[in-house]
Amino acid sequence: MSELRIAIVGFGKIARTKHVPAITATQGATLVAIADPNAAPAGVPHFPGLKELLRDGPAFDAVALCTPPQIRSAQAAIALAAGKHVLLEKPPGKGVSEIAPLRVVAESAGRTLFTAWHSRFASAVEPAQQLLAGRKIAAVSIAWKEDVRVWHPGQAWIFEPGGLGVFDPGINALSILTRILPQPLFVTSADLAFPANRDAPIAATLALSDAQGLKITAEFDFLQTGPQSWDIDLDTDGGPVTLSMGGARLRAGGRQLVDAADAEYAGLYCRFRELAETGESDVDLAPLQLVADAFLLGRRRTVEPFEEMT
Ligand code: NAP
Repeated sequence: MSELRIAIVGFGKIARTKHVPAITATQGATLVAIADPNAAPAGVPHFPGLKELLRDGPAFDAVALCTPPQIRSAQAAIALAAGKHVLLEKPPGKGVSEIAPLRVVAESAGRTLFTAWHSRFASAVEPAQQLLAGRKIAAVSIAWKEDVRVWHPGQAWIFEPGGLGVFDPGINALSILTRILPQPLFVTSADLAFPANRDAPIAATLALSDAQGLKITAEFDFLQTGPQSWDIDLDTDGGPVTLSMGGARLRAGGRQLVDAADAEYAGLYCRFRELAETGESDVDLAPLQLVADAFLLGRRRTVEPFEEMT
């Protein structure tokens, strides 16, 4: 395999805490540059934006787009036009339909477009998928509740149009759900709580189903203080199954089957590396489609304004 030279675009929280360590640890991948209006780590060439990176930067093969979702597809179009492989952080864009044209360009250019659903690479997700493949599932209940003030300080984009609000974490649950259950799922109802001063929901309750009428409920809350939950509980004919800690732990039959350290971004870059070797794309829009349908179907309630500082 040839070395994959990667530039990160958008050097915020996730780029710093996950992408840089994962690229550094991936055999056959090298971080060669960063594009961000402000921040960059010492020792890596830094450019204020993607255009400057493409014009003045070192040679590279691929970009990891870690910018806010509102600008991601436009950057992906520029990067693909310049012949780069593209990793799209989640969510892949601010809307569903903007990804199809990117896919066409990537395929005709023989470049990789990768919708990087990081939670699908959590340690217990694949074991859960295998366990559930042999079971009949009666009901699924998702609780994805975290404190936006703790996890997303200063990220105003999250409550702007296209920022998804509470679906920014909630889509991770939906990415796991759509991986561990093989059948197509759809949203049947949604209740969305919008702060009076914001353009994206701060809480949401969803009901989903499949063609057989499986009952799936999801509770997403961005104001959870105290213990945080990133859990999926399934009632199965073989007893309860629980995926917790965002997919890092799996419990079934009264036993802890998986309890592993965070492996998400290592798996993500391993996959990106493999895809880029052949220029194949891996594009799955199912989690974003479910979020879009929740916005389409959702009953909207206005709740008290959200201020980051209390
Ligand atoms: P963030 O901390 O706000 O980082 C975004 C970075 O992109 C900021 O440094 C921002 O600079 C920069 N940026 C804005 N416009 C740019 C442009 N035109 N060109 C280059 N850089 C630009 O957000 P984040 O938490 O890292 O999240 C980024 C994405 O990763 C989101 O889609 C999120 O859902 C996803 N993600 C986040 C997490 C997490 O735990 N935080 C986990 C997994 C995935 P300014 O601040 O100066 O605007």
